[in-house]
Amino acid sequence: MATIQGTAVAPGLALGPVHMVRAHTGVVPIWTIAGGDVEAEVERLEAALTEAQGQLGRQRDLVQEASGSQDAEIFSLHRMVLQDPSALDTVQRKILDERINAEGAVQALIDQLHQKLAGLEGANVRQPASDMSDPWRLVLDVLLQREREELGATEERVVLAAAELTPQVVTFMERTRILAIITERGGRFSHGAVLARSFGIPCVVGLQNLLARLERNMQVAVDGDVGTIELRPDKDAVDQFIERRRLRTLRREVLDKHAMEPAVTPDGTRVSVMVNLESMRDLDTFDVRHSDGTGLLRTEFLYMERSQFPSEEEQFRMYRRVVDAMEGRPVIIRTLDIGGDKPLSYFQTPPEANPALGWRGLRVTLEWQDLFRVQLRAIMRASAHGDLRVLLPMVTSLEEVEASHEIFDGVRAQLVGQGYEVADQIPVGIMIEVPSSVWILDQLIEIVDFVSVGTNDLTQYLLAVDRDNPFVEKLYQPLHPAMLRVLSHVAKVTKAAGKSCSVCGEVAADDAVAILLVGMGYDALSVAPNFLADLRFAIRQTTLVEAQDLAQRALAARSSQDVRALMAEAHKRLHRDLAGDEAGVSAPS
Ligand code: PEP
Ligand code: MG
Repeated sequence: MATIQGTAVAPGLALGPVHMVRAHTGVVPIWTIAGGDVEAEVERLEAALTEAQGQLGRQRDLVQEASGSQDAEIFSLHRMVLQDPSALDTVQRKILDERINAEGAVQALIDQLHQKLAGLEGANVRQPASDMSDPWRLVLDVLLQREREELGATEERVVLAAAELTPQVVTFMERTRILAIITERGGRFSHGAVLARSFGIPCVVGLQNLLARLERNMQVAVDGDVGTIELRPDKDAVDQFIERRRLRTLRREVLDKHAMEPAVTPDGTRVSVMVNLESMRDLDTFDVRHSDGTGLLRTEFLYMERSQFPSEEEQFRMYRRVVDAMEGRPVIIRTLDIGGDKPLSYFQTPPEANPALGWRGLRVTLEWQDLFRVQLRAIMRASAHGDLRVLLPMVTSLEEVEASHEIFDGVRAQLVGQGYEVADQIPVGIMIEVPSSVWILDQLIEIVDFVSVGTNDLTQYLLAVDRDNPFVEKLYQPLHPAMLRVLSHVAKVTKAAGKSCSVCGEVAADDAVAILLVGMGYDALSVAPNFLADLRFAIRQTTLVEAQDLAQRALAARSSQDVRALMAEAHKRLHRDLAGDEAGVSAPS
């Protein structure tokens, strides 16, 4: 049994066999093969090698038929490379001696070939070198593809392990089959983390040398509350784990029982607790009556799930589905926020040195207005069926909002002209996630209907800390005193203008932080479905006066650490109220 400490990203407890995700991470992970399994691993390699050779033979025949033998020669050459006994021996020995997976051993050979090549001078030797490694890349592809097919053939629920937490890892397989996700790297506020929380999948990142310590099907206990994992837990550890999970489930049941009750503080302040959605499937994961509406529909994920741009009709149907599902509650649809770490596979843009500072969000849609218009048409058509609002991402200036309004008005006029029904009022709000928008908010607020603070990006842009870069993870502090001042400023300016302000970034999901935000004056919070009940409960437990006092004390703090200590204190109070009876839980008052 071994415990590894990492960083908690999504709460929850899980226990089960581990499965290493090899594909779609951009990195080929290496891990240890159990002693008794090395022969089988060599057989996996040999089978992949045979299949790769077969593929090359078929390609050669096809090309020969189409354009003659000279063009087909390259495939014969590649087949010969794979028949080289010394290369095969190197890979086999690596598996047997070092007990690593076939993918890792093949990757090592590819690296070795590249190194050899780099040692040789002259451009004329480059071509043969890539010829030497290309066929081995094909073997790697075959291994990765087979793994996916094998996994797809079973019903087993697994703990997914990967080198890095990316949106691709979180969507690697059917979400109900993922017990938990554990990775070596990944930011707590990256989009992979956002998805894990949204899907309710316990997740721990920052686990050093994780993959090298895992073996296929090894039992792993994952604690997404504190950020630890236990490899091969013994019987006592499993018993304790199961007991903790039982208590956790009981707490959830109690919270869920009261989750219909609105979030009103004991002294009468009502707060909207709304839900963040990324996918149509999210609609099946919670009871809409536990929420006061959808505070953020991240539409880019709807685009990312597809292999081409969704049509107006398709988008209309999706937005309409959300509006219908929310049964009259407001639905805030954020316009496309692609770019940065949310690329669209079918929308190739030139590589950027600093994607987070580059072509992202509103910058893309204002440039590619056709894209914007199609989405706005779909949104406006859906507006006839419910309380629909629009949210613009990555706003940095007045001009951007004015330009959006102009496009918006044009689209509305066109739709009405074509006989479509469009709601009379479609409130338009902006995300506050870039510091420039904070300092011109007094002007912006005059031309928008509401604001929603995206603390995930605001933290990265205010503190100059990449939300996805593990090297600066410690510096990524959403509760930094500068962040708190900005948050308080935004609430004050918005309230003074008589408009609504919410926070839809991940910090709001922490119940103590939610109280702090209410104390600052936020009237709405939007969180992943999993956290709705906790937030409503926390707000019902805290008077506005107490929340304001917490906000005052936090604003006076001199470091993120001091703010976190205050939050820990508030957290204890909120959670103590539920720990009482013999089961470890008592009903909230
Ligand atoms: C944010 O930046 O806080 C936010 C809600 O948007 P996203 O996480 O999708 O960038
Ligand atoms: Mg953002």
